[in-house]
Amino acid sequence: MSPDPVPPGEGVSCDIPGCSEASHRSLATAEARKAFPTLGETRRTHLCKAHYKEWKKSTRKERELERLGR
Ligand SMILES: [Zn+2]
Repeated sequence: MSPDPVPPGEGVSCDIPGCSEASHRSLATAEARKAFPTLGETRRTHLCKAHYKEWKKSTRKERELERLGR
């Protein structure tokens, strides 16, 4: 599943607890949980730029394996 760009001006903020940055990307919570296991049961999770970067970093290994399997 790939992250969707968030339309500007939507006023959505990052879903990571304690973070109030503006949403940069939204992704399926199941995906986001790979990096942030404390997330709740919502369907979509909004991530700010910094947390999206962090998520990408921590899922990189897995995605490399995926690519090798194709
Ligand atoms: Zn954030």
